[in-house]
Amino acid sequence: MEYKQTVLYVEDNQLNMALMHHIFKKNLPSVRLLKAETAALGLQIARQKLPDLIILDIGLPDLNGYEAMDELKNDESTRPIPVLAISAFAQRSDIERAQKSGFSGYITKPFQVKTLTEAVEKLLAGIA
Ligand SMILES: [Mg+2]
Repeated sequence: MEYKQTVLYVEDNQLNMALMHHIFKKNLPSVRLLKAETAALGLQIARQKLPDLIILDIGLPDLNGYEAMDELKNDESTRPIPVLAISAFAQRSDIERAQKSGFSGYITKPFQVKTLTEAVEKLLAGIA
């Protein structure tokens, strides 16, 4: 089957990465999932592949998600790509900071499979 769209997931936790892989296979089979374990690799893949959506973990080992977001928004080629934040930080101040930083959405861990799937589908459809 040919993939219709591409999503890049930047996540350092292997369990979360495996879960996302499973969710995409099961619920979003027409979407290709690219993976990066660090912000540096994620930024490189984002520039090379220009995915339709980026799911960005806030707690990464090199840059944090906000710093990675700044890099994405400072680069003309990656600026238009919607970015969904995913984080265990669930304080209102964290969510407000994400909104101010230009994220298109914010998912808190642990997340519901349905919530994640619907957020991705909406952003890929351009209606979020
Ligand atoms: Mg993390």
